[in-house]
Amino acid sequence: SHSRSPFLFLSLPIATAKPTKMSNNNNALTKKTVMPGGKAYEPYMFEDGLDVFTLFNKQHGYTYDDLIMLPGHIYFSADQVNLKSRLTKNISLNVPLVSSPMDTVTEHLMAINMALLGGLGIIHYNNTIEEQVAEVKKVKRFKNGFITDPMVLSPKHRLSDVDNIKAKYGFSGVPITEEGRIGSKLVGIVTSRDTDFIKDRSTLLADIMTTDLVTAPANATLEEANNIMKKCKKGKLPMINDKGELVALASRDDLVKNRDFPLATKDHENKKLLVGAALGTRETDKERLAALDAVGVDVVVIDSSQGDSTYQQEMIRWIKINYPRVEVIGGNVVTCRQSEALIAAGADSLRVGMGVGSICTTQEVMACGRPQATAVFKTGLYASQFGVPIIADGGIRSIGHIIKALSLGASAVMMGSLLAGTEEAPGDYFYKDGMRLKKYRGMGSLEAMVKGGDQRYFSETEKIKVAQGVSGSVVDKGTVKKYVPYLIQGIKHGLQDLGCISVDNLRSDVYNGVVRYEVRSTAAQVEGSVHSLFSYEKHFI
Ligand code: GDP
Ligand code: 5GP
Repeated sequence: SHSRSPFLFLSLPIATAKPTKMSNNNNALTKKTVMPGGKAYEPYMFEDGLDVFTLFNKQHGYTYDDLIMLPGHIYFSADQVNLKSRLTKNISLNVPLVSSPMDTVTEHLMAINMALLGGLGIIHYNNTIEEQVAEVKKVKRFKNGFITDPMVLSPKHRLSDVDNIKAKYGFSGVPITEEGRIGSKLVGIVTSRDTDFIKDRSTLLADIMTTDLVTAPANATLEEANNIMKKCKKGKLPMINDKGELVALASRDDLVKNRDFPLATKDHENKKLLVGAALGTRETDKERLAALDAVGVDVVVIDSSQGDSTYQQEMIRWIKINYPRVEVIGGNVVTCRQSEALIAAGADSLRVGMGVGSICTTQEVMACGRPQATAVFKTGLYASQFGVPIIADGGIRSIGHIIKALSLGASAVMMGSLLAGTEEAPGDYFYKDGMRLKKYRGMGSLEAMVKGGDQRYFSETEKIKVAQGVSGSVVDKGTVKKYVPYLIQGIKHGLQDLGCISVDNLRSDVYNGVVRYEVRSTAAQVEGSVHSLFSYEKHFI
C-alpha cells in the first residue's frame, strides 16, 4: 500500500544493515505514529508533570503539601547520596539541617548535637547577653568525649556537697578548684574512694581530697587522654591549661563508649564545632555581637519576621564592616524584593518563611506572609544569581517537606517543632493524657514575649502586646542522636527516588526540568496520606 519512491528502494539495504536507535522497535514512545482514533502521537503527550518554571508561573501560592514530585531513575544506592550543601556563602554543612533559634529548641545541648551530626544549631536570644554567650561558649568548648562543663567544688565545700551532687546528678568524681568553678586553678579531686568511709559528712573537702593528681594538658587528644588513664588506672582525668586551670574532665567510661562523628560541622583549623546565634537590630545587639564574637560565634541570624527594614540593612552592613569573620544570615524574607534589599546590604545567606511556622499566627494577625513552597522557590532562584544560599524556615512537618524545600532551592532547612520534643531541646518533659510531652512556644507568643522575645516582633515599646505566635506542646521524640540520623536516611531515600545523587544534582535537575512536579488536588492530598484505617500508629524510628 506504500507509494513507491525511488529513494526508498535505494536506501533500503543500508537501513536494514544498520538499524538506528530511533527506528528500533524497543523505543515505546516512537513506536507508533498514529493512535487508535487516527490522531498522531506527539512527544508532549508523554511529558510527565511540570517543570518548576511552568509550575510557579501561575498566580497561586503553593505550600509543600500542594505539590508532589515525580520519581526519576535510580542508578545508585541511598547510602551514596551526598547531602553536602551550603548554609552561607562560606559555610558548608554535610547535612543541611538547622535548629531554630527558639527558647524551646536551641541551647548548647541541641547546638552541640546538631553540629556533631553534620548540621548546625542557632542559639536563641530570649536571654541576657551573658546567658547567650555562655551557651555559645559551651558549644565552642565542646570536645567529643570530654566533659567541658563538669560539676566542680572548692576546698571550702563539705562532703555533704559531694553527696548532694551524687544524689542529684549521679556523679561521684568531683574536681576541686580554688574558686569551685571551671577555669579556676585545679587543687584536687574527690572520688568515691576518698569519701566512702568518712562518717562526718560535714568534713571539709580540703581535708580529704586527693592532691597527688594525674592530669592531662588541655590540648590532649582523646587517644592521648585514653592512654594516660590506662597507664595510671584512674577513672577521671582532669585536663588543665598551662596556668594550671581546669578546662575539662575526661572520664574513662566515656572514652570507652565514645563514638566518632565523621560528618561533624567543625572548623578544620582548631577542630571546634561551629555554632550560630540569633540577634536583633537594636543598639544593644551591637554589644551582644561584640560579646558573641569574643567567644568565637561563627554565624549570626538577624532574627526578624519581616526582614526588609532599614534597621536590618544597617545592621548587616555594620556587621560586615566590623566583624567580617562572622557570617550573617538575614531574614526573614519571602519575596524577591525583600531578598534584594538584604543581599545588597551584604547578607551571606537568607532565612525564608513568613507566617508558616507551626506555632505561628502572623498570617492571621498581620495578613502578611506567603505559602512556603512558592516563597522558597522565588527567593531561592533570585538569590542564586548572587551565590547567596537560602534556608527554608518553618512549616517542616515531615521528611517529605525537607526534600521538597531542598528541591525548590533551599540549601538548608530550619526546624522548630520537629526538634522541640527531643531530649536535647531545653525544658523538661511532662505528662498529659498519658503522653510524654515537652513545651514548644513561638518566640512571638505572649508567654515568650514576657520573657523578652518581643525584640523580633517590633512591639516592646507598645503597651498593648499583639502576639504572633502561640504556646503549646509537642510529643517526646527521644534523642536527636537517633532522630536526626533517621531524618538524614529518609532524605537520602527521597533523593534516590528522584534519581538525584546529591543536593547539587537535585538543584540542577530541578532547574533543567528533569525533576517534575504536579499540583495535588485536595483529594490527591488525602490519597497521599494515611487513610481509610480505623486506627494506626506512627513511629519515628
Ligand atoms: P564513675 O564513678 O566512673 O561512674 O563516674 P561519675 O559517677 O563521676 O560519672 C558518671 C558519668 O557521668 C560519667 O560517664 C561522666 O562522664 C558523666 N558526667 C557528666 N557530667 C559530669 C560531671 O559534671 N562530673 C562528673 N564527675 N561526671 C560527669
Ligand atoms: P516550625 O518548624 O515549628 O514549623 O517553625 C519554626 C519557625 O517559626 C522558626 O524558625 C521561626 O522562623 C518561626 N517562629 C518562631 N516563633 C514564632 C512566632 O511566635 N511567630 C511567628 N510568626 N513565627 C515564629
